[in-house]
Amino acid sequence: MALIVAAGRGRRAQTGQPKQYVKLGGKAMLRWAIDAFARHQSIVGVRVVIHPDDGAAYDAATMGLAMDAPVLGGSTRQASVRAGLEALADGAPQRVLIHDGARPFVSSALIENVVVALDRAPAAVPLLGLSDTLRRKVAGGFEIVPRSDLLGAQTPQGFHFADILAAHRKFENTDASDDMALAQAAGLTVASVAGEHINMKLTTPDDFVLAERLALGTLGDVRSGTGFDVHRFVAGDHIFLCGVKLAHTRALEGHSDADVGLHAITDAIFGALGAGDIGAHFPSSDPRWRGAASRLFLEYAAKLVREKGGTIAHVDVTLICEAPKIGPHREAMRASISEILHLDPQRVGVKATTTEGLGFTGRGEGIAAQAIATIRLPG
Ligand code: MG
Repeated sequence: MALIVAAGRGRRAQTGQPKQYVKLGGKAMLRWAIDAFARHQSIVGVRVVIHPDDGAAYDAATMGLAMDAPVLGGSTRQASVRAGLEALADGAPQRVLIHDGARPFVSSALIENVVVALDRAPAAVPLLGLSDTLRRKVAGGFEIVPRSDLLGAQTPQGFHFADILAAHRKFENTDASDDMALAQAAGLTVASVAGEHINMKLTTPDDFVLAERLALGTLGDVRSGTGFDVHRFVAGDHIFLCGVKLAHTRALEGHSDADVGLHAITDAIFGALGAGDIGAHFPSSDPRWRGAASRLFLEYAAKLVREKGGTIAHVDVTLICEAPKIGPHREAMRASISEILHLDPQRVGVKATTTEGLGFTGRGEGIAAQAIATIRLPG
């Protein structure tokens, strides 16, 4: 099991919101850590300890993941870990890796090394030597501190589950800075594995600048896809365009709600994934999609991106029609697409054009839409 502790407030980061929910490369920092463990073949489950105020942020960050409900943390890190361990105790796991949600770039190799080290010791911790020259402030200047025997302790810290739970129960009123300290207080042998620089703990605003670059580098497999769709006008009094209901002198014909804009964007995302098209995922022969709100299709496409650990960088759609006029509704459409995709509105484009009276759109027989989507995948 993996237990990720994300109940702190992280005020030093000055991010204006709890730092574990700040997006890096379009993905919440906490989600980076969750994905790292959830995708690892040696980890059977992931549980997260959160601050009681962060339920909504947690739900957004873990969207599309099948996970047990988060555990509510306490007033200190130690209390939060304890709450998490108690929640896991019913399942009686053999081993647990306890990880800080503020370390988003934990590698698969590091997780494996900690797991393997638990074959030879009841506790295993990543330790990293220091490369900066250390100095201590003294009267009249700074003296050098020998660093050869100084090590930084990282997470994940791995333990035989019963041992670390017993240590937490026994030393519940100490203020240990990490779980290794409690393991040592309980007399457990602690094995060490090599820590990694990239497994940095994000603490200061400066760290987030670096982390954003690392995130974009990690999600370096950038892909684009296009989508195109047409729906025919029939008798009616309203249409749906980009998730917005508009009064109109006609309706659009379709098996679903015929939202031609959302269909084009959905296909663009499928295209970027190489995942077929909207007709393959939601066949019009399937009665489940009769009259369906097209946001379901777009939400599903976004879920496929997230399942690959990726993010949507941008979508842009052009609506092609003589009427209705799109301009007055453009911002509502951008807001709608942004809300469906959980994407910053700055990353959503909605444009419109006529075809100067030419062709089927010019004759007012229907509406066409074309879209492009750009996604980032781990690569
Ligand atoms: Mg369609």
